[in-house]
Amino acid sequence: MRVLDRVDQFRKELDAARAAGATVGLVPTMGALHDGHASLIRRSAAACDVTAVTVFVNPLQFAPGEDLDTYPRDLEHDVEVAAAAGAALVLAPPADDVYPGGRPDLTVRVGGHLATRLEGSSRPGHLDGVATVVAKLFNLAGPCRAYFGDKDAQQLAVVRRLAADLSFPVEVVGCPTVREVDGLALSSRNARLSATERAAATVLHRALLTGATAVTAGRCDPAYEPAHVAALMAAVVRAETLATLDYAEVVDAATFEPAATLTGDVLMVIAARVGAVRLIDNLPLIDKTEP
Ligand code: AMP
Repeated sequence: MRVLDRVDQFRKELDAARAAGATVGLVPTMGALHDGHASLIRRSAAACDVTAVTVFVNPLQFAPGEDLDTYPRDLEHDVEVAAAAGAALVLAPPADDVYPGGRPDLTVRVGGHLATRLEGSSRPGHLDGVATVVAKLFNLAGPCRAYFGDKDAQQLAVVRRLAADLSFPVEVVGCPTVREVDGLALSSRNARLSATERAAATVLHRALLTGATAVTAGRCDPAYEPAHVAALMAAVVRAETLATLDYAEVVDAATFEPAATLTGDVLMVIAARVGAVRLIDNLPLIDKTEP
């Protein structure tokens, strides 16, 4: 496996791979790789001839006061995980190679409910920062499949819109969330939880399961509404003293508008702070009432 630190080398390597007939898979990450990231890399390596992993803590997607400076960084470990999962290439560029001269004047602006609700309103500028760096990575990587986790569902919805709205020659592939045995979704930020916070952090998954169970039990009841399910999820988080709820909602999986009903492509989404660590999670509602 090759490790590159320059974006122009990265572009050349992938252009050369395609010219030689290879298909390319791209796995963008911010590093501190865990088995969730590894699952994306394995998925890419199984489907594409060359899998390229990018490791870049993108300053554009952190607001002032967020955890840019304390975000975990360990390139040696990341290189080992990427190689073991089947990557052919790791790009780990310095920020001034990605953004020569500092912050770019031209960035991608996300619109619609995706921009103004949930992650969009809780973290102003975050999704614009994600869309901007992903647009750059798509331009650098060229035609490819790109693998993203369902765990960051709103980010995945933004990336799908980005690829479609700006006509990138990229097939966006969503991959299932990898969890600890107690249900906590793997996240690079979990390492910053104390032992008691780590135990409390299962509250996000517990809230989602409570919502899912209520839906299964109550879906046939016409009076049963998404807002009721959201309230049940919120109550689970409020009962956990170490957790502070940011939001719990049932949304349309593509637009992130509040779901009107509990049928169709609907997602329960949740965000909460456990100690100083902000965690997000989600679960699709499998609609058994449709054929
Ligand atoms: P990050 O390094 O947090 O920016 O994540 C890089 C990619 O890994 C994103 O597409 C995430 O959605 C995905 N990812 C993060 N955690 C998980 C997980 N637990 N399971 C599956 N994918 C994940």
